[in-house]
Amino acid sequence: PRGEFKFFLVFAWLATATLAFPLKTISPAALLICCLWYLSLYVFSIPFGDAELKLNDREQELMNKKKNLEEIKRESVSTAEKEDDNIESEIKGITSLYTAAKDLSFAIKFDDMAVIIKEILKKVLKYNFKIEPDSVNVLLAFKKRDSFYIAASMGYDDEFIKEKEQELIKSVINDKTQLEISYSSSGNDNMDFHKSVLKVPFVVEKRLLGIMIISAPVENLFNAKQVENMKILANQIAISLEKVNLYEEIQQISVTDSLTGLFVHRYFQEKLEDEIKRAGRYDNHLSLVMCDIDFFKKINDTYGHLAGDFILKQLAVMLKNHTTPAETVARYGGEEFVIIMPDTDKEAAHAKAVKIRKDLEKTKLNFNGTLISITVSMGVSTYPGDAVSRRNLVEQADKALYASKNNGRN
Ligand code: GH3
Ligand code: MG
Ligand code: MG
Repeated sequence: PRGEFKFFLVFAWLATATLAFPLKTISPAALLICCLWYLSLYVFSIPFGDAELKLNDREQELMNKKKNLEEIKRESVSTAEKEDDNIESEIKGITSLYTAAKDLSFAIKFDDMAVIIKEILKKVLKYNFKIEPDSVNVLLAFKKRDSFYIAASMGYDDEFIKEKEQELIKSVINDKTQLEISYSSSGNDNMDFHKSVLKVPFVVEKRLLGIMIISAPVENLFNAKQVENMKILANQIAISLEKVNLYEEIQQISVTDSLTGLFVHRYFQEKLEDEIKRAGRYDNHLSLVMCDIDFFKKINDTYGHLAGDFILKQLAVMLKNHTTPAETVARYGGEEFVIIMPDTDKEAAHAKAVKIRKDLEKTKLNFNGTLISITVSMGVSTYPGDAVSRRNLVEQADKALYASKNNGRN
């Protein structure tokens, strides 16, 4: 603006000179007047120029202040936003802990538990621990019928887990650490690439039902507050694990025959239906072996019912020992048993049945010092050659069994 003001002065002088003295008639006197006129205007302009200068400085100062204020405002807005993010994340973290209880209450199977815990953990890691779940390694082990197994993992190769399962379990479960959440900022022997390791045991009434190991390549990842949150979560998980354990136990009881420990008739029928469907899907054979103790009534009559019960139990053990985990052994009725043999053709099923029959024949069962020998008669039917429906397959095996009975038993 100062330069503009000068320009304005020159312009004003030129305009005045032009109007007052046409160029043609310029005389020294006129030139002098002109110069004086300019000089007076110049002198007159000095205070304005100074004032303008001062105004400019002031303006500059104000501008700077404004800039500073804007900077401060920007900073405080971003801090507030960050604070907002923190609060939001905190709320999400707390919410995830609360909703965890609800999610967990739906689980009635160990597999469901593992899936739900994994989902909850992802949220907790993100919002409570402020770490990307992908950068963390997690091992989740559950106790199922007296032994631990790895129910889920994060950040590990599946093959590695399969291979090292027992080793990993041994390394994380020991008497000293099991009841406390321990926190270490240095790695341990088995996970030396991890700087922060958090062991979260799931304990109900001093019984260890499972454990979760979270390890991360970040130092001091877990603070006291987060460990507290983890304890809350661990309690909820422990209670749910207890519930799942009880549910599985009840489930197990309802499908298990109390005398022999084998599956009950109802379970056998359901299982056979499933296995037939599966065999149909994969175009496989499936065999059914029916087995009935010969002259069992006589055993009861001779040695008493307790001896009879003992024989039934022993035969159940023997049948279990002669079958694979894929095969289902059930008590069909009184002294009748069935074996479902998936992916087994008639010939293989027959061979297995003969082996059982021959081994049993050679065995002497010792009931309180009394040696008792038994024999069984058996019948085999095979899907799809003999029948394609569950009912007909059972019928065919039964028919074969009675043919054995009629042909001299054993
Ligand atoms: P067969 O060779 O023709 O099969 O003759 P069996 O005597 O084995 O056949 P039967 O059907 O006449 O008798 C079966 C007996 O099994 C009758 C029943 O008292 C006995 N039984 C069924 N369930 C049990 C049980 O849980 N415990 C005992 N001790 N006996 C049982
Ligand atoms: Mg019978
Ligand atoms: Mg019988």
